[in-house]
Amino acid sequence: MKWTRSETLALAQQSCSYCYGLGLRPGRAGVSTPCNCVFRAIFRACHARFKQCASREKHISRVSLEANPGRQRKSVWGLKDEEFIADFCLVAKRTLSDREHRVFKFHFLLGADWKLCCRRLNIDRGTFFHEVYRIEQKLGRTFRELEPYALFPVDEYFSGTPRLVPPGESSFKVETEEAPKAKPILKFPLKKAA
Ligand SMILES: [Zn+2]
Repeated sequence: MKWTRSETLALAQQSCSYCYGLGLRPGRAGVSTPCNCVFRAIFRACHARFKQCASREKHISRVSLEANPGRQRKSVWGLKDEEFIADFCLVAKRTLSDREHRVFKFHFLLGADWKLCCRRLNIDRGTFFHEVYRIEQKLGRTFRELEPYALFPVDEYFSGTPRLVPPGESSFKVETEEAPKAKPILKFPLKKAA
């Protein structure tokens, strides 16, 4: 996937002291990278949708007909709310370390506040909030970059139609730090043995 400048700008926190609301930070080798405030905004949007799905009454869950990719191309009936809940939990489990996942489970899944989490996990307040920030950043990035079905933007997840970035929307494609371009392999002339 590609990040675009218009996307990071829309998601950035205006008061961010790292990117000043632009949503971009200078990365390695002169390549821009999305700011952590962008990843946190993505995580929070997904978490809000997760809470909405999880708190909905079971009998009013929407059933939708979706195209099933593959040779048969049959349509399948899906329970989107349940799928989103499952994806949200599974991606977190796969992405986070055991220690981070414990904080994630208590705070984001079970809704425990910082006092309860600190007591239960035996950590101080500073450590707790540091962990929460790391979790939000890690998962925000993963939720957006997940292929073929990203959890964010959530409306695309639910409609099942991935948005295609129109050509020329932004002339500055933002490469992520995690996926640097392959460097050309340097070749040295072989020395002949004397
Ligand atoms: Zn920022």
